[in-house]
Amino acid sequence: MVATSHDVMPDIELYQPTDEANALALAESLGADGWLLGGGQDTYGWLKDRNKNPAAMIELTQVDAWHGIKETPDGIEIGAVTTITEIVNSPLIQAKFALLSTAASRVASPQIRNVGTLGGNLNQDARCWYYRRGLDCYRAGGNICYADSPQGLNREHALFGASRCVAVTPSDTAPALVALDATMVISRTGGQREVSAQDFFVGPARDITHMTVLNEGEILTAVRIPNTWANAEFYFEKVADRNVWDFALVSVAAAIKVSGGTIEDARIVCGAVECVPRRMEAVEDAIRGQQRSEELANQVASIASEGARTLNYNHFKVPLMENLVKRAIRG
Ligand SMILES: Cc1cc2nc3c(=O)[nH]c(=O)nc-3n(C[C@H](O)[C@H](O)[C@H](O)COP(=O)(O)OP(=O)(O)OC[C@H]3O[C@@H](n4cnc5c(N)ncnc54)[C@H](O)[C@@H]3O)c2cc1C
Ligand code: SF4
Repeated sequence: MVATSHDVMPDIELYQPTDEANALALAESLGADGWLLGGGQDTYGWLKDRNKNPAAMIELTQVDAWHGIKETPDGIEIGAVTTITEIVNSPLIQAKFALLSTAASRVASPQIRNVGTLGGNLNQDARCWYYRRGLDCYRAGGNICYADSPQGLNREHALFGASRCVAVTPSDTAPALVALDATMVISRTGGQREVSAQDFFVGPARDITHMTVLNEGEILTAVRIPNTWANAEFYFEKVADRNVWDFALVSVAAAIKVSGGTIEDARIVCGAVECVPRRMEAVEDAIRGQQRSEELANQVASIASEGARTLNYNHFKVPLMENLVKRAIRG
C-alpha cells in the first residue's frame, strides 16, 4: 500500500486584540513567535508556500487606535492599519500629499489595496523569488546568494548597497514617505519611539534578515507626515513589467519646492534599486538653487547612477533610473 501525505496548513494561534495595550502586550510576550498581521497580502503568500511557519499571529487591524487618517497641528497622521485604498481615496492626503496617494494607487491591484495596510506595505519582506521559493540563501540564514551567482536571474535586483544580498525594497509607499520626510511611530509596551522614514529601512550590511529597524515586541503604529512638504510639486512614476499586480522595476518619488522657476529645495527618492528607498542627495544638491528646466534635468540625471554596480541582467535599470529622475526634475 502506498502511503499518502496531506499538505495541510500547520496550526497557527490567531490573536485578534481590539485594544492597543493588549496588542502590544501580545507582541511583547510572543516576541519572534508572534507574527504581526495586517491585511495578510504579503503574509499569506509565505504561508501558502509553506516557507514561513509562524506559531502565532497577532492581527492588528481591529485596533481602532491604529486606524484612520487625521490632521494634526503640524501635518497628518496615518494609522498603520489604514488600508492602501483609504490612503488613495483620502481627500486630506490628496489635497496635501498627493505624492503618497499617487504612489499608493500604484500598489498591486484594487483587491490587494482594499485589504493591504500601510504598515504591511512598509514592512513587507523582500520579493526576491529565490528567497520566496524557500531557498536557503543569505537572507534565509544560509550562506549563498542565488540571485548574485553566475547563473542567477537578477533583473529585478539591486544597483546599490549590496552586501551578500542584492534584494530591493518592494514597497511603493516607502519612497514617497521618505521624499515627504515622514516619521514612523514605533510602539511597544511601556513606550514609543520615532524614527525618520529614511532611517526606518535597513540594508543587508546592517541586518540581512530584516528590512526595518523594528525589534521584537515592537509594532509600527502610525506614520506622521509634517507640513514641511505639503503642496510641493510632486512627481511619482513607477515602471513595472505590468501595470497592475506587479512590483516596480524602478520607481521615483520626488517633492520639489519651486519659486519663480527656481528649485528651492528637493527630495528625490528611488524605489527598487537598493534594499532601502534610495535618496538621491547628490542630485538634490545639484539642482537646489537652479532654474527648473529640461536642460538641468539632462545635465544632472547621470549623477543618480554614480556608484551603481550592475548585476548580469539588471543593466537596464541604470538608464531607466536616470530617465525617471530626469522626468521628476523637469516636471
Ligand atoms: C500579487 C501581488 C502584487 C503586489 N504588488 C505590490 C506592488 O506593486 N507594490 C507594493 O508596494 N506591494 C505589492 N505587494 C505587496 C503587499 O501585499 C502589499 O503591499 C500590501 O500592502 C501588504 O499589506 P498587508 O497589510 O496585507 O501586509 P501583511 O501581509 O499583513 O504584512 C506584511 C509584513 O509586514 C508586517 N507587518 C504588518 N503590519 C505591521 C505593523 N503595523 N508593524 C510592523 N510590522 C507589520 C507583517 O508581520 C508582515 O511581515 C503585492 C503583493 C502581491 C501578493
Ligand atoms: S538577493 Fe538576497 S534574498 Fe535573493 S537570493 Fe540573494 S540573499 Fe537571498
